Amino acid sequence: AKAQHGGGACFYQANMDAAVRERRRLSSALRHALEDGQISLFYQRQVTAGSGRLCGHEALMRWHHPERGWVPPADFIPLAEETGLILPLGEWALRTACADAKAEPRLGKVAVNLSPVQFRQAGLAALVATVLAETGLPARRLELEITESSLMQDPVRTLEVLREIKALGVSVAMDDFGTGHSSLATLRAFSFDKIKLDRSFVPEVDSNPQARAILRAVVGIGRGLGIPVLAEGVESASELACLRDEGCAEMQGYLFGRPAPLTALDLAAPAAAA
Ligand code: C2E
Ligand code: CA
Ligand code: CA
Ligand code: CA
Repeated sequence: AKAQHGGGACFYQANMDAAVRERRRLSSALRHALEDGQISLFYQRQVTAGSGRLCGHEALMRWHHPERGWVPPADFIPLAEETGLILPLGEWALRTACADAKAEPRLGKVAVNLSPVQFRQAGLAALVATVLAETGLPARRLELEITESSLMQDPVRTLEVLREIKALGVSVAMDDFGTGHSSLATLRAFSFDKIKLDRSFVPEVDSNPQARAILRAVVGIGRGLGIPVLAEGVESASELACLRDEGCAEMQGYLFGRPAPLTALDLAAPAAAA
């Protein structure tokens, strides 16, 4: 916050400069991270609400910096998007997730996040087709998660790319549903295969009637559109019970498993709290 008097403006300026320098350092470190093997994928299981059966895994990018340790995606993904580094990083994540899923059938369907920036690059659908061909992963085992912000900048072009991707047989999920400004318009404009209810709604479904009413409405929308709703960030058994009662089809969250490297996943075990 800005100091009120005396050398306040100066102090404020110094803080700004420090923040800018820190961002520069982080982005130059990120430039080398991929080639230096500091980037990896963790996977988090997704389960069906009814039986708790494993249905797939979301791939989540991780950066382990030699001195800083783990850098949270919330810190480096926005930076990667601003600098354009998300293009090589995103392509690497797509290729790695498809190769992992091909090598490990028990992963089920693998869900990969796409950044809005990747839609501005020509040939995204062609890239997806190439990666599927190179890795040999059947298209039906790949899902791409897209946030509404992908559709904001150039909706006509983005919808065209999404259609090309769907034509490959790849499914498309709307991520972080409920956090954007025109979620309903976005759902109307494109036939998504799944709605992922944002994890900010989930912790309160068992304690806050408003959150529960919103959950009910979103499940109703999914039902009307004929697509499943997945709730993210499920942490407790009472949340699970509410989500089940309201007819949520799929779930993801610490209750079922934390994101972990492929080699550390418990692929044989039945889901917790099933
Ligand atoms: P997201 O796509 O909404 O991913 C779900 C986030 O929720 C992950 O955070 C996951 O670790 C966290 N999470 C899962 N279960 C729980 C739970 O029960 N409780 C809580 N509190 N959190 C839970 P993570 O891994 O830190 O990733 C943050 C965001 O970074 C992602 O949000 C996504 O927007 C972005 N991201 C991660 N990997 C990629 C990637 O490969 N490409 C792109 N473009 N974005 C990525
Ligand atoms: Ca996601
Ligand atoms: Ca999400
Ligand atoms: Ca709760």
